[in-house]
Amino acid sequence: MTQTAPAKVGDATTANVFMTVLTRGPIARSEIAHRLGLSAGTITRSAKPLIEAGYLVEDAAGDVTRPGRPTVPLKVVPEREFVIGIKLAGDHCVGVVVDLLANVRATREVAISTTSVDAVVTAVAGLVGQLRLAVDGPITRLGLGLGGHVDTRVGTVRYAPFLDWRDVPLAKILSGATGLPVVIENDVNALTVAEQWFGAGLDVPSFAVVTIGAGVGCGLVVNGALVHGAVGLAGELGHVPLDPAGPMCRCGNTGCVEARSADTAILRQVAADTGRQDLDILAAAELARHGDAAAVAAFEAAGNWLGRALATVANLVNPDRIILSGEGLAASDLFESAARQSFYTHAYGQAADCDLLIRPLPEHTWARGAAAVAIQHLFLTAPTR
Ligand SMILES: [Zn+2]
Repeated sequence: MTQTAPAKVGDATTANVFMTVLTRGPIARSEIAHRLGLSAGTITRSAKPLIEAGYLVEDAAGDVTRPGRPTVPLKVVPEREFVIGIKLAGDHCVGVVVDLLANVRATREVAISTTSVDAVVTAVAGLVGQLRLAVDGPITRLGLGLGGHVDTRVGTVRYAPFLDWRDVPLAKILSGATGLPVVIENDVNALTVAEQWFGAGLDVPSFAVVTIGAGVGCGLVVNGALVHGAVGLAGELGHVPLDPAGPMCRCGNTGCVEARSADTAILRQVAADTGRQDLDILAAAELARHGDAAAVAAFEAAGNWLGRALATVANLVNPDRIILSGEGLAASDLFESAARQSFYTHAYGQAADCDLLIRPLPEHTWARGAAAVAIQHLFLTAPTR
């Protein structure tokens, strides 16, 4: 297997042309020009180095040339290189190898025994080694998503509560351990990129992905662009303060969305009302499904607060769609109705017209999103080495 560095061609316009062909191709230069608001000549100049470097080809089969208007579409060469995407969780990580169209070619998973940086990097490097053996072609970079505050620009994990990490320059460390350029991203943002590229966010200019379960996360795409904010903290829906009378959140503030609607909030309520301290979230859900009134009420209360949180997103961003995902959906039968009712009660005016989509997604989709982030960075920024 040959390892080749990705060609560095062009500038931001080249990157935009590449991404447009990637997500919309096969597509004619004139259509790219229309979508990007640039001249056909600019598109032709920007596409040329991508064609010469083997990333794009003309799709002769799609030629619909009319007199005086050449429209031979461009398409991406999927096997030009392969990219690894990894979703890092607290006790395991899932990895995929994808081609440039983000088609999954292989999936692997490894356990993580402890959350020290060394142990996690060793586990991720082992996973990368397995994935390298799984495809016959050049793997040129790695994208990794994890929960917490990730500053993608500098490749540093500012704070990852489930790993108890602060200010870990993970991209640089992982690059040293694997020999690959590395891009890291908040895991929900990576999932949001996956949805934008090949999921339920396709063809909607503005949407949000809200994930529920152990925490509450949120990725935002506004007018086609993923929102990071000043230092990568945009979309921290879990710590939006909703309830002044609410319990203390793990962040130290009072009444955050997480403190009212994450798994811990449900379990706290169930324990207070039933005396059952021994339940995990699946057992609490079973208790509710067997008719325990206190357990039913705890899930409905969490749903009610979640609906307020979703209305907050709708009122602030006015997305076309909110996609609700995450492991917490395993109990959606117990809270969806309350969440929808609360959402429609609190969404302002036509913000309530937002499409609210319940969408369970497998873990490898999160990893695929991390790979998609790495592909997006192919021509955007200097890789972290
Ligand atoms: Zn909080």
